Amino acid sequence: PSPIHVIGGGLAGSEAAWQIASAGIPVILHEMRGVRGTDAHKTDDLAELVCSNSFRSDDATSNAVGVLHAEMRLAGSLIMAAADRNQVPAGGALAVDRDGFSQAVTKAIADNPMITVLREEISGLPPSDWDQAIIATGPLTAPGLADAIQAETGADALAFFDAIAPIVHTESIDMDICWFQSRYDKVGPGGTGKDYINCPMDEAQYNAFVDALVSGDKTGFKEWEGTPYFDGCLPIEVMAERGRETLRHGPMKPMGLTNAHNPGVKAYAVVQLRQDNALGTLYNMVGFQTKLKYGAQAEMFRMIPGLQNAEFARLGGLHRNTYINSPTLLDPSLTLKSRPGLRFAGQITGCEGYVESASIGLLAGRFAAAERKGGTPSLPPATTAFGALLNHITGGHIVSNDEPGKRSFQPMNINFGLFPDLEPGAIVKPEGVKRFRGKDKTIVKKQLVAARALEHCAAWLAASA
Ligand code: FAD
Repeated sequence: PSPIHVIGGGLAGSEAAWQIASAGIPVILHEMRGVRGTDAHKTDDLAELVCSNSFRSDDATSNAVGVLHAEMRLAGSLIMAAADRNQVPAGGALAVDRDGFSQAVTKAIADNPMITVLREEISGLPPSDWDQAIIATGPLTAPGLADAIQAETGADALAFFDAIAPIVHTESIDMDICWFQSRYDKVGPGGTGKDYINCPMDEAQYNAFVDALVSGDKTGFKEWEGTPYFDGCLPIEVMAERGRETLRHGPMKPMGLTNAHNPGVKAYAVVQLRQDNALGTLYNMVGFQTKLKYGAQAEMFRMIPGLQNAEFARLGGLHRNTYINSPTLLDPSLTLKSRPGLRFAGQITGCEGYVESASIGLLAGRFAAAERKGGTPSLPPATTAFGALLNHITGGHIVSNDEPGKRSFQPMNINFGLFPDLEPGAIVKPEGVKRFRGKDKTIVKKQLVAARALEHCAAWLAASA
């Protein structure tokens, strides 16, 4: 068969190429890094992680992204296999050694005889002799291609700010002040319950820090003012501006942490750092994505007790996000309605996150391979995490309150809100449990939705094999 072209060798494109090759169909993967970089990528490796090194919760029994991990493993995901082989301890989360991870993906693709990698920028829509292609160029799609997509779709491709968190050299952290502990001593896969470095703050230190954040020198962002941020990736100074207490209830919450140097005194706020590489020589500041100017950042973050001499391997930064209005533009198998044979995958479709991007790459790859073999793509059931996310992207019929009749489409992480409800009466009080209230019910509901997803996913994969 003639090859399927995949544009962009990020999380989604690498996974799509792998899935197509696994179906026995040749792939040409076009990746521009090596010829042209982006504002966020630092290497030429495929599937580079541009910010956090976490794939988030690995709990497949009651966490939506954990369920997506499990479904991807069932579907033979390259991204999950590489992540599993390059884990670093991170409480209940699946975090990876970022270099080890992307090098593993790069090697697996290079060693696959069905995949050819071409290092080149594609600056227009696929030429007519590529009868099947997948655009997986991500939030930092190069401008030439972005313009071509906009010209083809006629719809607005949105661009907005996203911010990245600083990384600190571990040896520059003062462990006479900081201590190792996971929140509530939670022990995750490969973890010890002591996976995070914690920096304590008293009330006066916290207030001074919040004041500094609010008055800090920010990078100019006039041109994109008023544009939305990713949920859960708000810059730290924007959170500080929302109220003095916001950070203490967000990334700086002190709950579940006891200062090992001073167990009798409860910290007023805590800054957590998470291991960033397998060697443990780098830690990233959890939730500290920022658009403060570099000089201001170093000065301000050294106000944090324990980080007074911190050396930064990377400071936080500001980046663009490009995504298309998928619910109107794409059919349920991710094909651009105006161009049969052309699919989109990854963050550019309006999903959010490494895992989500890779999973949409996985689906696009399977769909394209099925079509190349003369069949029709088999869509995952809506009850699976794959199906829930796919439906959000291609069928996100959310009506805007402000403009009746108009759909609004926002990038989103996988979450239980995207899954269809359980059958009425499905949630039953477990035997021996006396009080069964809202919170307990929610946990049972999540467990049932998760179990249903995995069962339906396994059945779908078996039927579409
Ligand atoms: P990418 O991984 O970016 O891959 C796209 C690839 O296409 C790149 O390799 C790029 O070089 C290439 N490319 C672009 N244009 C062209 C072209 N014209 N021709 C050829 N190649 C091209 N998600 C998280 O889960 N956690 C985070 O902490 C996180 N932080 C983020 C921080 C920033 C600054 C940004 C921008 C995004 C962040 N995301 C994060 C969101 C998102 O999950 C990642 O960006 C993820 O990498 C998206 O996967 P992707 O495959 O769609 O795009």
